[in-house]
Amino acid sequence: MKEFDIIIIGAGPGGYATALDARSRGFSVLLIEKEKLGGTCLNCGCIPTKAYNAIASLINHTKDASVMGLEMNYTLDFTKALEYKNNVVCDLTSGIDFMLKKAGVEVIYGKAALSKPNYVSVNSEEYYGKYIIIATGSRNLAGIIKGDDKALNSTDILALDSLPESLAIIGGGVIGVEIATIFALFGSKVTIFEAMDSLIPQADKEIARRLRSYLTKLGVTVNTNAKVLEIKDHSLVYSLKDEEKEESFEKIMMAIGHRPNIEEIGLETIGILYDKKGIIVNDYFETNLQNHFAIGDCNGKIMLAHYAEFSGKVVLDHIEKKYDDFVPLCPSAIFTIPEIAQIGLTEEELKEKGIEYTVKKTMYRSLGKALAMNEKEGFIKLLIVNNKIVGCHIIGYDASTLIHEAMLLMNLNVDSDRIKDFIYAHPTLSEIFK
Ligand code: FAD
Repeated sequence: MKEFDIIIIGAGPGGYATALDARSRGFSVLLIEKEKLGGTCLNCGCIPTKAYNAIASLINHTKDASVMGLEMNYTLDFTKALEYKNNVVCDLTSGIDFMLKKAGVEVIYGKAALSKPNYVSVNSEEYYGKYIIIATGSRNLAGIIKGDDKALNSTDILALDSLPESLAIIGGGVIGVEIATIFALFGSKVTIFEAMDSLIPQADKEIARRLRSYLTKLGVTVNTNAKVLEIKDHSLVYSLKDEEKEESFEKIMMAIGHRPNIEEIGLETIGILYDKKGIIVNDYFETNLQNHFAIGDCNGKIMLAHYAEFSGKVVLDHIEKKYDDFVPLCPSAIFTIPEIAQIGLTEEELKEKGIEYTVKKTMYRSLGKALAMNEKEGFIKLLIVNNKIVGCHIIGYDASTLIHEAMLLMNLNVDSDRIKDFIYAHPTLSEIFK
């Protein structure tokens, strides 16, 4: 039986990044993956959606180009777009394979389960790990709506080999609005059904309203307060304003959330506790069983790739007894067109907590660079409490990059009235902070 310092189950961004980090710290590492290196993020999540989003952005630019004197006609070859997306995924996954080999991480393909504390079995072999890290990720929620087994999920949608004429998306959360943006710009007639009263319910309400108007401009029909009751082969039954309706679509996609992969990995066998959100962990992502950790989507804390990677670093620091009280804030981005990004608290959360705050809001259209680029739509909103930024919310071009300025200011606890003393290069979108 082979022994390792660390055994990691699952090679998504949590698992593979932690494996590389652990090797660089001198640990021996076994990484076990039942499907493909890169997990959801690389194969059917972050990366393929962003490859398609890049094509959708180009289409969007060509639509607006006539005001800049360019008449651009395009035709989308969907087969080539699919090939482009697949090549991006392939380049990245083979890069990870190369890095893992170079770093000396041992990789085994197979379905792993914990057989007893510190022991993992895979392909009928048992391995010992001084530390065990579970990084099994999550999967699409299903089995919630009558007939939802007939609907596609995000993985199926990203694998389609022809463009659907019409697409219904059930769920107006992050994945729903990203897919809606892509397929609307590709040319599908997209309709969103969201049960709540706004899109992306966890986002700043003003931004969610603005997104709704941008999606409508792209031709997406947005139904909020719309409860889907049943999915049939090519239609769905829903209630809207107390009225029951049935509508037909070529494809129907479910995007109502994700559930952690916690089944059949031996949690019960060795007594690791979990609830319906995921594996229960403490601040160091350690489970109730010492030296057994759970990182990434499987603990249900923050289901984002960069948080999965971050939590692996926290685990390794903890193993090396490198204690640090600093808890960085986690930014998030939504890749609609234009993009959305946020960090910290929302106005709604501040109101709920009864905290007094001020809002500093600037429109993209006030920036020379945004006007020059014809990217005038959107705004940034800083929420300030006692001269510190406690929340930043952006909707507009390249919001996913701009949010990192707020990330630094907030993590470094910079006084908000200090920003005016900094020098910003002109003309840039970063000037929006000034
Ligand atoms: P995963 O990436 O899910 O990896 C888990 C791995 O564990 C999988 O490869 C799985 O096969 C393996 N596994 C499971 N059980 C076993 C077992 N028993 N034995 C061996 N292996 C096992 N996040 C972002 O931050 N930015 C984005 O832009 C973004 N876009 C997304 C778009 C879509 C369409 C989707 C679906 C998700 C998106 N996400 C995004 C979320 C992101 O993909 C996840 O948060 C991230 O992949 C979680 O990483 P992980 O390592 O925890 O799990």
